[in-house]
Amino acid sequence: MRFSTLGLHADILAVLDSLGYQTPTPIQQAAIPEVLAGHDVMAGAQTGTGKTAAFALPLIERHLMRETTEKAIRVLVLTPTRELAQQVHQSFKKYSQGLGLSAVVAYGGASINPQLEALNQGCDVLVATPGRLLELAIKGLIDLGTVETLVLDEADRMLDMGFIVDINRILKRLPDTRQTLFFSATFNDDVFALSKTMLKQPKLIEVAPRNQAATKVEQRFFEVDNSRKAALLAYLIGAKNWQQVLIFTRTKQAVDALTKELEKDGISSAAIHGDKSQGARDRGLAEFKTGKVRALVATDVAARGLDIQQLQYVVNFELPYNAEDYIHRIGRTGRAGQAGLAVSLVSSKEKYLLKDVEKLTGEHFNLQWQEGFEPNLLAQEETNSPSRNTSKKNLRAKALGQTGSAKAKRGKPRRR
Ligand code: AMP
Repeated sequence: MRFSTLGLHADILAVLDSLGYQTPTPIQQAAIPEVLAGHDVMAGAQTGTGKTAAFALPLIERHLMRETTEKAIRVLVLTPTRELAQQVHQSFKKYSQGLGLSAVVAYGGASINPQLEALNQGCDVLVATPGRLLELAIKGLIDLGTVETLVLDEADRMLDMGFIVDINRILKRLPDTRQTLFFSATFNDDVFALSKTMLKQPKLIEVAPRNQAATKVEQRFFEVDNSRKAALLAYLIGAKNWQQVLIFTRTKQAVDALTKELEKDGISSAAIHGDKSQGARDRGLAEFKTGKVRALVATDVAARGLDIQQLQYVVNFELPYNAEDYIHRIGRTGRAGQAGLAVSLVSSKEKYLLKDVEKLTGEHFNLQWQEGFEPNLLAQEETNSPSRNTSKKNLRAKALGQTGSAKAKRGKPRRR
């Protein structure tokens, strides 16, 4: 199936094309026609299934079809966390680029003034966490009477986090005639009870999580600025009490620099790369195996053939230029039926490498933010112009020693 069969506007199809989205994911195939038809929807879908576009695309379509250009909050998306609010906001901006839709995000724990300023400039879609939304509504700073569609994202987490009272107070301020889209990864009695109070004859949609049973390696992707990667890694190792973690970087220089950084943060580390003597490599590996050092930092080539039993944690400090290397890297954990965790730290400039990994594995991965290490999106917007992306691809081709088509020659061996 292609997006063009879903009845979306040509301008939206053009955006999807520019994003490289070719096929709608199962949740998109099922939800988009229902949302377009104006039905309430109750969908069981986890993050990573493409659920944001499943509700955003038809709502953008409705925006384009609307005759009035007057700004009013027509779509309200509620999310349990500010990280998710920021992600959904970014997704709306990404999917509606150049289409005249204005999306605003509002969440607590941050100054209300810039959020108000953005709201006052005109807002079609408001993405918000419940507490801040109520604050804005109770103070009379926003009018929720114009809302046509309410999206409740991650309803199960909302309930887990105790937002039920806030949600009920918000519902009272919304028009009864609204459309409601209800998304939840899991369904228990509480989630069903909440859905019953919110939905009218909903269409039920359920999609299977992708490849979940097939693998015991949990894969997580953190979006983080390059300059904050070492700090985030040290935080994760410390806060999660990881005792033995294998970390991959792309270059020998990066291995050395990161090893020093981790030592500074009090995390004993050893380095393995092509410029190290065999003796130094063996020593590093032995210390890592016996637990004398907690972190082993390595390049892909140096790490090949390392046999470390029952490794629980692998970190991609940088995504590899070859997507195949990603598979090799994460294959170092979850061995012999053990559960493993593979964490990737992805800067904005590496997102195209993540796309390669997604293409190779056939999976969609959701980028998450770690509180306190959120990326600076303003700086990203400045550096993400298409011309720069092209030059990044050239850079990768150069790094791989390729000329001409980088794709055609992918996989060429190189020494690092
Ligand atoms: P979500 O489940 O909404 O968090 O989306 C997970 C990831 O899948 C995001 O990085 C999206 O940009 C990406 N994505 C969503 N829909 C598609 C699609 N049809 N084709 C390719 N990537 C997609």
